[in-house]
Amino acid sequence: MTTNTSAQTGTVPAGAVDGDLLVVRDLVKHFPIRKGFWSKIVGHVRAVDGVSFNVRQGETLGLVGESGCGKTTTSRLVMRAYQPTGGTIHFRDRTQGWLDIPTASATQVRGVRRNLQMIFQDPYSSLNPRMTLLDIIGEPLMVNGVAKGSELQDRVAELLRLVGLHPEYMARYPHAFSGGQRQRVGIARAIALEPQLVVCDEPVSALDVSIQAQTLNLLEDLQARLGLTYIFVAHDLSVVQHVSTRVAVMYVGRIVECAPTEDLFFTPKHPYTEALLSAVPTPDPTRRGSRIFLAGEVPDASNPPPGCHFHPRCRYAADICRTTVPPLTEIAPGHTVACHMSDQLSLTGVHS
Ligand code: SF4
Repeated sequence: MTTNTSAQTGTVPAGAVDGDLLVVRDLVKHFPIRKGFWSKIVGHVRAVDGVSFNVRQGETLGLVGESGCGKTTTSRLVMRAYQPTGGTIHFRDRTQGWLDIPTASATQVRGVRRNLQMIFQDPYSSLNPRMTLLDIIGEPLMVNGVAKGSELQDRVAELLRLVGLHPEYMARYPHAFSGGQRQRVGIARAIALEPQLVVCDEPVSALDVSIQAQTLNLLEDLQARLGLTYIFVAHDLSVVQHVSTRVAVMYVGRIVECAPTEDLFFTPKHPYTEALLSAVPTPDPTRRGSRIFLAGEVPDASNPPPGCHFHPRCRYAADICRTTVPPLTEIAPGHTVACHMSDQLSLTGVHS
């Protein structure tokens, strides 16, 4: 694993610019595949394979891709739920300064945990059914010695109001609530300690379509009020369009395109992004029927195709794509793409 002295010194990491809150560089996570009686390692799943990105204070970075592309593993590495195989994850903690999360000490990580929280995908399984809302939302406040007794109740009441629930619900258990209400409880717990960065792991994909918009609006409202920064993980580009400042598209463990949301939706530069965008519902009848159906399946991350991982499914693939990995290159301010043909292609966006 790469070590970095900034975990001890708090120095600004390479690649950070003013306003950055998180700087991820060359992040790699390989999971071993074990077989046989002796559990011999016979290969590795390359879940995350050299991912780099920055997250700025107050923005929402959408992390998008099909199932198995590595977006959830990336978000869990940021939360230190996994140790990376390589790379660095520098976080600008409000009290400790810059820290490399994977190499930070246990004491440093305890401090970081207050400022780095997660909203989970499934509001049904992420809440303990034996705890009341007071216990669920108040737990992080108690554990961190922030509040107790009546002060704790007041703070939980305030958090419930903030997420649009009645304070008198605090004595009830999760089973008494709908999926949307439970997700609001999960959000209240995540923001209880006033974190700097919240990782939202598909926070609306388990909800009815009718309440997805309400939950997204709530997240946006809380961001504006509390100055939160989000990493928003989703498989659906139409969901991230409305909440993200910038979007990073992942494919088989790599970022293939990253751009401000409007640029990515109007003028995509990677064929995979173009295919994902073609599935975004549009009210424009002239664009209906132009959906791009990708041939084949997402490659096995333990044995991805050489060169550009997308080449077996890409309708623009050339010879170089089959042998040479395209580097992630900045083609316009803030717009990076990993495609050999990006300067020759004129791709279709949502509004073009
Ligand atoms: Fe398609 Fe080649 Fe670009 Fe990969 S590098 S997306 S195969 S054109």
